[in-house]
Amino acid sequence: MSDTLFDPGPPTITTAKERPDLSADARRTIRDRDLMDVGIHPATRKPLAGTGLTCATCVHHHAVTHYTSRAKTWHKCDLHRLGTSHSAASDIRTSWPACVLYQPGDDQ
Ligand code: SF4
Repeated sequence: MSDTLFDPGPPTITTAKERPDLSADARRTIRDRDLMDVGIHPATRKPLAGTGLTCATCVHHHAVTHYTSRAKTWHKCDLHRLGTSHSAASDIRTSWPACVLYQPGDDQ
């Protein structure tokens, strides 16, 4: 059996700029991942704290829920570099690692 059958080939690097075919959300996800890979938080552009904590328990995180046709919740950060907006560009994910501006919330 040939080893080349299982060789995935050289790794490919995908950046958001290289994928104009993707949606804005998909390109943003790639950019966010790339920033976190180099230790930068996508929301604040500050260094990741490296504490194992996440945005979910930070006092600056808040959830916004709208009850229209169906309930939907967005997560925002008071210190987001884009400010507070209704845009998906200012959304955060509660699973993201905390940045150095993290402060424990009331439930911590
Ligand atoms: S850790 Fe806190 S301040 Fe930093 S991005 Fe997350 S919610 Fe915002």
